[in-house]
Amino acid sequence: MTIAYLGLGANLGDARQTLKDAVVCLAQQHTITVLAKSSVYRTAPIDASGDDYFNCVVKLETSLPARALLRLCHHIELQFGRERPYRNAPRTLDLDILLYGASSIDEADLVVPHPRMTQRAFVLVPLVELEPDLILPQRGRADSFIADVADQRIEKVAACQCMVGTPSGGTDTSTAPSNKTDCR
Ligand code: ADP
Ligand code: MG
Repeated sequence: MTIAYLGLGANLGDARQTLKDAVVCLAQQHTITVLAKSSVYRTAPIDASGDDYFNCVVKLETSLPARALLRLCHHIELQFGRERPYRNAPRTLDLDILLYGASSIDEADLVVPHPRMTQRAFVLVPLVELEPDLILPQRGRADSFIADVADQRIEKVAACQCMVGTPSGGTDTSTAPSNKTDCR
């Protein structure tokens, strides 16, 4: 089992609902346990035109190898109507692997840690919300990069109501919602 973090983004269609549905879709995979989800953020497009984005980050545990997790991400993107007419085009759903355990992967179609994650407020802010002391493989503390992206517009639009679903999350499971899909 490997802990991984996915970055979710959308700016076409009902983007907020899509994020919610995508988290449900991830949670329904028998190969994945969703451990935590950040709040949803509204963010300015970076290197792209189009409407504002909605973004969040999900922490999960998976039995899938990294490449299979990428394939699953692409499959789910397609199910949500993802098209790639040109680079950085507006999208119904983008699922990026930010971190896969402590792995460093540098292949033609899969680079982990995600190569641009330390340059993007829409990744760093929700990621650090989930894991304030997170250390990135070979890059140091995730929160140390946030000052560099302070000029990127990002606004929290919905605090996550769901609770971390594992004992390591330290939540009081007697009061926490029992299902993992109560996210928005
Ligand atoms: P974006 O870079 O804006 O997310 P796409 O979602 O279209 O654009 O992804 C382009 C390609 O990036 C994918 O086909 C995928 O193979 C590749 N890629 C490389 N590393 C990663 C990663 N860590 N997570 C997701 N996709 C990745
Ligand atoms: Mg992507």
